[in-house]
Amino acid sequence: MSTRSEHLASWVSRLVQIPSVNPLHAGPRAGEVGEARLARSLAQWFADMGADSVELVDVVEGRPNVYGIWEGTSDRWVVLDVHTDTVTVEHCTGDPFDGRIADGRVYGRGAVDTKASLGVMLAVLERARGEGRRPVPNLVVVGSISEEAGGLLGARGFREWAERRGLRPDEVIVAEPTMCEPIHGHKGGASLEIEVKGLASHSANPHLGQNAITGAAALVLALDAENRRLQTLTPATEVGNGTLTVTLVRGGTGGNVVPDSCTITVGRRIAPGENNAEVVSQLKELVERECPLPVEFVRTHVGAPAFYRSPDSELVRRLAGWAGTQPAVAAYGTNALRYEGFADEMVVFGPGSIDNAHTAVEYVEIAQLELCADVFTEWLGLGS
Ligand SMILES: [Zn+2]
Repeated sequence: MSTRSEHLASWVSRLVQIPSVNPLHAGPRAGEVGEARLARSLAQWFADMGADSVELVDVVEGRPNVYGIWEGTSDRWVVLDVHTDTVTVEHCTGDPFDGRIADGRVYGRGAVDTKASLGVMLAVLERARGEGRRPVPNLVVVGSISEEAGGLLGARGFREWAERRGLRPDEVIVAEPTMCEPIHGHKGGASLEIEVKGLASHSANPHLGQNAITGAAALVLALDAENRRLQTLTPATEVGNGTLTVTLVRGGTGGNVVPDSCTITVGRRIAPGENNAEVVSQLKELVERECPLPVEFVRTHVGAPAFYRSPDSELVRRLAGWAGTQPAVAAYGTNALRYEGFADEMVVFGPGSIDNAHTAVEYVEIAQLELCADVFTEWLGLGS
């Protein structure tokens, strides 16, 4: 391994060795859960690497975001947002936090999702510091909490923090494993929790009751038909059409009672061009029309619109050019959902493959770290 690849791999390994499992994914193997320990280490490293200011800001009690700011020599502001939490380790093979470097890879939970981007940025900044150089644009590196579960709270917290300071970034990179392809769009989401209301009776006399599960079953099939209809539309962009699916069902009180209540949850993925409020209100109309029994909307989550930028937008083109990759779209959602209307230029970008995320054996290829380091170096104006 070259000195440079060793340097990159060792930073990612160091980050993997600090467990930061999302508290909603806690389990016996997770150890100390939460992002705090990693955030405190990052604050120290940001300071070591010449950040002009470093802040730890609790988003939820005991779960801080960390912000490092490097003042540049231009008036542009660029942001790298990296989520500091990881998914569960309960299904991992071997020690999920050993950060083992072998076979041209760094192994362990978070190696690819998404400590790799953070490790690369730290290595690039450390190298620049050693050479007495600074990023040309003003740079904010954000370590954000709660991306994997709990509702993108860290991204929301960062945006509020930045807006209070009047900071409006010219460019935002949301770090996720994209094989260094600039992702310029993915779907948003909305959801509904619906209670179907029936009438209880003795199960020997079903005709005296109104079975809420049977009513919900008819509704579920109508929702499924609506999803099939959505797939026949011509998509507005490469991201594709919105989708709809029932994800949870709960109902019934006993084996000999006709159920008077059944609750279902419907997940709706929002395509670019769709308006969340309109989508949700049309979905509610459909539910009321198609359900044979009365319904109550227990929870309405209007959610976030899709993230979309043109594949020809400047940041997308520059990143693709430096990486030698093509713009692409993603099936999964990211912190980009919190930054619509905040940043003009935005992409989701980072080393390694999403196929190696959340798995029993997680790893990132060191060659991907090197490619990402080339791109970050150019992005920060640190190329030779
Ligand atoms: Zn991630």
